[in-house]
Parts: sequence; C-alpha cells; structure tokens
Amino acid sequence: MTHSDQRTISILGATGSVGLSTLDLVRRNPDAWDVVALTAYSRVDALIKLALEFRPKLAVIGDETYFSALKKGLAGTGIECAAGEEGLLAAAVENSDLVMAAIVGAAGLRPTLKAVRRGATIALANKECLVCAGDLMMQEVAAHGALLLPVDSEHNAIFQVFDGENANQVSRIVLTASGGPFLDRSHKELGGVTPAQAVAHPNWDMGAKISVDSATMMNKGLEVIEAYHLFPIGKTQVDVLIHPQSVIHSMVEYIDGSTLAQLGSPDMRVPIASCLAWPHRMETPAKRLDLAEIGSLTFATPDYERFRCLALARDALEVGGAAPAVLNAANEIAVEAFLAKKIGFLDIAQVVEKTLSKCDMKGPQSLTNVFEIDKAARRIAQSYV
Ligand code: NAD
Ligand code: MG
Repeated sequence: MTHSDQRTISILGATGSVGLSTLDLVRRNPDAWDVVALTAYSRVDALIKLALEFRPKLAVIGDETYFSALKKGLAGTGIECAAGEEGLLAAAVENSDLVMAAIVGAAGLRPTLKAVRRGATIALANKECLVCAGDLMMQEVAAHGALLLPVDSEHNAIFQVFDGENANQVSRIVLTASGGPFLDRSHKELGGVTPAQAVAHPNWDMGAKISVDSATMMNKGLEVIEAYHLFPIGKTQVDVLIHPQSVIHSMVEYIDGSTLAQLGSPDMRVPIASCLAWPHRMETPAKRLDLAEIGSLTFATPDYERFRCLALARDALEVGGAAPAVLNAANEIAVEAFLAKKIGFLDIAQVVEKTLSKCDMKGPQSLTNVFEIDKAARRIAQSYV
C-alpha cells in the first residue's frame, strides 16, 4: 500500500476490548493507518503504552486524576495530552477518516455525538448511545451527513446483508443470541450466580459490563433497540433467536421468503475489520469457519420469563419516550452494583423494572433532556441498590 492510501483513525475507548481488537488490526497493517487520537478512562498505564506504540497526535484520559501521570508518561514525545470530558470531546472532533466509538455506556454519548456533528464516519460499538438517545442521534447523523458503520457483530451482519435501497422488501430482522453463560440455568440457579461466572462468556471475550448484559440477555434487548435505530424497520420487525454457537451473526428475511445471513467465527476482529475496510474488505487473522468441524447449529426461542431483562428492553422500545434511556441508565447502575457484589444477579432486572415504574416516560426533546433523564434514572436505580 502506498503512503497516499493511508487513512487516519481515532479510537475512543482504546484500552477496552473493542479498542484493543481495533488496534490489533491497525498493528497488523501499519502502513494502512495513522492513529490520530486514543482515549481511555482510568487505565493510564495502558494508554501510555499504546500511545508510545501508535504515536497519536492526541492522548486523552477521561479521569482527570490521572492527567499528571499521562503527561509524565508521554513527556518529550510531542504527543498532546488532555483529560476529562473536554479532552474526550477534543479527541472526537480531531480530524480523522474514521472514529471508532468504543466507550462503554452512556458515557460514550457526548463524544460520539461530537463526532457525528462533524459529519464523521463512525464505527459504532457504543450501543448504549443509540439506546438512550436513538431518535436524536439519528436526526443528527442525517443533518450532518455522518455515517454509522455498525461494529456490534449482529448489526454488522445485518449491515452486510440488508438491502438498504429496497428496505420495503425486508420483512424482518433476526438477531441471533448465544444466550450467554446461563442459557440453561433455572430461575432458582440464576439467583446464586456470581460476577465471575457471569463475565465468563462461552463464545466472546468482552468487557465486564457487556458480559454481564449478555448473561442477563439485556445485551440482546439493547441490541433490539439499536437495530431499530440503525435500520429502516418497524419496532415489531426485530426478532431474537437463540443460537448458542454464535456462528450465524444475524439474518435478514425478505418478503419473498429468502433469508440472508452472515456467518463467521466469534471474533470481534471480523466485524471491526468490516468497518475499517468498508466498503472494501481486509485480511484478518480470525479463525476460518469450519462448519464440518462444528457439525451442527442449533436454535431456540428466547425465554422471556427467565431472561426478564430482554422483555423489559422490548417493552421499553414499545413504550418509547424516555423508557429506553431509563432502562439503560438503571441497567448500568444495577450491573455496576452486581459486579461490586452489592446485589444478586436477579436483582438486576428488579432494579431496572422498579426504576422504569418510577420514572416519567415523556420523551427527550433535546440532548440536555436525555442527560436529565439519565441522571434522574440513575438516582432512582441507586436508591434500589
Ligand atoms: P470495555 O469495558 O472493555 O472498554 C470500555 C472502554 O471505554 C475503555 O477504553 C474505557 O477506558 C472506556 N471508558 C469506560 N468508562 C468511560 C467513561 N466514563 N468515560 C470515557 N471512557 C470510558 O468495553 P468493551 O467490551 O470494549 O465495549 C465497548 C462498547 O462496545 C460497549 O458499548 C459494548 O456494548 C460494545 N460492544 C462490545 C463488544 C465486545 O466484544 N467487547 C461487542 C459488541 C459491542
Ligand atoms: Mg452483539
């Protein structure tokens, strides 16, 4: 590849699971990418190490208490350092050909939106920002001519097989779900599972929050909402199908009865590469799919009783207004409390449900509104923890 083909990339959430997988691909294609900005929240040592390796123009630490450590670690390198929310926003506006939005949770909303408002091409992993502000976000995407490339494996799969020119010929989307580590546990058994068991996902290696979300199946609920915003389809046209092997990453069914699917090994580098190279493709070291070795693929209907979070998310989408933002905020608080062993696994759904019943469901009219709703919901959820 010649130097003129080189593209620039900013990675928000560089020290996380998606951020590191992205940098793994960049590392394997050093001539293809020039890293412009890297951000992290509190893992300052990891950020310094990455900055020394990838030499971005700007390195940002979200938690300001680590700012001096960051400056010290990068002293004499010429790499600009910044901290706090303002620093994160600066990383998002920094000119680059692609922004990887891989911050976890609603914390990613402001920086992602900042990138949207400069009309950036964004590889979007941060699903929570679409859950809490999907309508506003998509309006901004349209207004500023930004482009969202879905990183989430299911949405990336759909993106690859969805005929955007003929959306009216799509009858439904089927999001596959592994069912997480507790697919076959009884309600009683679920009451006693630990954070360590919950984060041990059978197929995917991910951050702690999304791993717990996968165990409660809230993740699939968030993904239903995410799909509704990313693709031109109705709320009732998104189905969920349990598929424990995570080989079929999702499917699009057309009006004539044809169903198109995307398949692959469960390795996030595949959907990430699809965003990095879009509209082309690039090589990845991902294990090739050997269907003969896998032998059989199985499917089942999700159990909305045992996986209450999935039902709550579907309801929140149906209700609309503030409900998805409240659901997301309460879930973030509940998952954090579960990981800190303050509440049990089944309490996560309880906290979310109670918070939903206590919040005003009037929809956000502005972004300021979204943050007010988010804050109020967090306060209520915290009171149940
Ligand atoms: P992670 O916890 O491994 O990493 C999160 C990143 O965000 C880290 O770099 C961290 O420093 C940063 N961060 C955390 N809190 C922050 C804050 N308050 N302000 C600024 N930065 C903050 O998470 P992950 O698993 O990489 O997931 C990232 C996003 O991608 C999530 O929205 C998740 O749902 C989505 N996603 C992840 C996977 C996966 O395989 N890991 C798959 C699909 C979608
Ligand atoms: Mg997913």
